This record gives sequence, C-alpha cells and structure tokens, in this order.
Amino acid sequence: MTYDIAVLRGDGIGPEIVDQATKVLAAATKAIPGIDLAINHLDGGADYYVRTGQVAPEITWTAMRQADAILMGSMGHPDIRMPDGTEVQGHFVVNARKSLDLYAGVRPIKAYPGSRGLDPSAKVDLVIVRESTEGLFASFGGGAQVSDDVFADTMIVTRKGSERISRYALELAGTRRGRPSDGAALVTCVDKANIFRSLAFFRRVFDEVAADYPTVRTDHALVDSFSMNLMLHPEDYDVLVTENMFGDILSDLAAALVGGLGLAPSGDIGDDHAMFQPAHGSAPDIAGQDRANPVATIVSARMMLDWLAERHDDNKLRIAAEVIERAVVETMAAGALTADLGGSLRCSQFGDAVAESVRRIASELAA
Ligand code: ATP
Repeated sequence: MTYDIAVLRGDGIGPEIVDQATKVLAAATKAIPGIDLAINHLDGGADYYVRTGQVAPEITWTAMRQADAILMGSMGHPDIRMPDGTEVQGHFVVNARKSLDLYAGVRPIKAYPGSRGLDPSAKVDLVIVRESTEGLFASFGGGAQVSDDVFADTMIVTRKGSERISRYALELAGTRRGRPSDGAALVTCVDKANIFRSLAFFRRVFDEVAADYPTVRTDHALVDSFSMNLMLHPEDYDVLVTENMFGDILSDLAAALVGGLGLAPSGDIGDDHAMFQPAHGSAPDIAGQDRANPVATIVSARMMLDWLAERHDDNKLRIAAEVIERAVVETMAAGALTADLGGSLRCSQFGDAVAESVRRIASELAA
C-alpha cells in the first residue's frame, strides 16, 4: 500500500529539520522493501501568511484531511502576527486539531544518548497525554471582553473529551514498559481538582474510565506540586494525562529533563487522522544556518510510522519505525551530535548520519 503523507515544512528552522526527517524516511523506505510513502508538500505558515493573507490555502486543508498522516515542521514567527496580535501557528495547529478532531496530544519525554538533561543520571521515559480539543484552549479565537479592563477565557471540560483522553492514556500505558523506577504501568491524572469544578469532573471521569483497566495503576496529582515532583523524581512517572493548557506547559517543562526542545517529538492523534511535529517552535534565531537539531522531527516521523503501522496492521512500517529509532540512538551514542548538545555536526550532517545508520541497521536485519 502507498501511504499519502502530507508534509508542511513550516517556517524558521522548519524546512531544514523536515528535510532531515524526509531524508531518513526515504532511507528507510529504500532499505526496507515493501514500504511506499508518497510525500506531498503543502503550503501554510507565517511566511505564507505574509505572502497571501491566509494561514494556509484551502487545498492544504483538503489534502490534510485526505492524507494517511501529516508530518509538520515548526511553524510561525514572533514578528508575524494576525490582526488580533496572535501568532500564525496557533491558528494553524488549533484549527487542525479541531477540524481533524486530533484530541490526544502525545508528547514522549525520553533521554537519548548525549542529551543534557537537568540530571543526566535520571532515568526518564514518560509520555504526556494532553487533551487537545477543549480545556482552556476551547475559547481560542473567542474569549470575551467583559469590560474595558476585564477579559475572560473559559475552560471547557466535557464528559466525552475527558473519557476519550483518559481511555487513550490508559490504553497507552498497557503498551509500554512502565515507569523506570519499578516497571509499574502507571497513569497519573494531573489536574487542579481541589480548586476547579471542571477539573474535579475531569478527575472523576478519569477514575470511572480507569475502572475498566484493572492492570494499570492510577494516581492523581495537583499540577503545582506535580511540577516540582516531575523535576525531582521523573523516574516515578510513566503516562500522564492532563487538561490542554497544563499539557502545553508541562510538555516544555518536561523537555528540560532530557536536554531541551530539540529532542521532544509530538503527535496530535485522533481516531481518523494524526499529525506529527516537533514540540519546539520555529527557532528564528538559528533559522537558515543549518544548526538546528532535527532529532525531535525525525522521532516525530518515527511516531508517525508507528501510528500508521498500528492502524493498518503493517509490520513493515513497524520495522521501519524500530530501525529509525535505533538509528537515532546509535548515531547519538557514537557522539554524533548537533551544536545544542555540544556537538559539531550541522543539521544536514546529522540527518545524513542517521540515514546512513538506517541503511546499515536495515541491511543487518535483512542478513
Ligand atoms: P513557540 O512558542 O513557537 O513554541 P518558543 O518561544 O517556545 O516557540 P522556540 O522556537 O521553540 O521558542 O525556541 C526556543 C529556543 O530553543 C531558541 O533559542 C531556539 O534556538 C532553541 N531551539 C528550539 N528548537 C531547537 C532545535 N530543534 N535545535 C536547536 N535549538 C532549538
């Protein structure tokens, strides 16, 4: 089967890092017979907005809807704003999440060799599952001006939204190796149930759904004290499930555990569509200099293959995903690192090195 992959290279470092991911995907499809990916480049983003006054053309939205999966680079630029002062990427990503119903924001946080986390000896392997269609972001593009000096955005929490994100997190925990400290499969519901009725409801629905998963341990945490515990004891966490805004903030915070944003991939996943992109922004300060770290984007592309493999029960894709993951780990373990991690490789050289590892690992597997 040929998989149609919609690709948005985006702005800033987006094009450079996406080119490394598509390079690695091409190496995998060539080295592992029976995989066919049709890469379809689409317009959209801040530069496109400057040229046209639109965030993306209609054909991009149609192609994204029709694609088997979407791969994105980073998007946006702090100096390019919509008339209401907001940045372009929020409109693109939030609209994509809403229109394609991408309700699960999946952010794996895992240490790679050479990554410089806060505590390099800490064992970090957790996933943040962020509800991505409601919560505080439900009022994105809306909100209310109550008076000249008072503005309001509303947090929306529904049973449907809370149920499906809880189920997603509990199912995910069943497929993982558990938390690093003792291997226990654990889902921690991170909320502020002691203050907000909406989040007390989120917790109640989580507990109801968790009753269907007796083999997965569950726990609750309040987002404020949890933030400290996450930094101090990351090895005690496996899967976290949380409201939209909390998930947004915790994802960037947790990236510090593994040495920065250049290493944090993400998937925005729904029942019928999914979009994969690095968790970081378009880093205009280093754009166009071949200096960015493409790991987050390459690993996002690997997550895309895993999602497609699961959805289509395609073992070749599963193998390709494993090969890419191993290639990233082995490349970094060999000391091939970009400047943000203290290495000397350019972004494109790192992409070449991972592609080369993919070819080597695939041929070893075939032998
Ligand atoms: P956004 O709000 O769009 O997510 P941001 O304000 O979080 O963006 P980023 O664009 O993610 O900011 O960049 C934050 C810092 O991290 C910048 O100094 C940038 O150079 C650095 N950075 C981000 N991504 C990478 C990367 N892939 N490789 C190297 N450095 C990066």
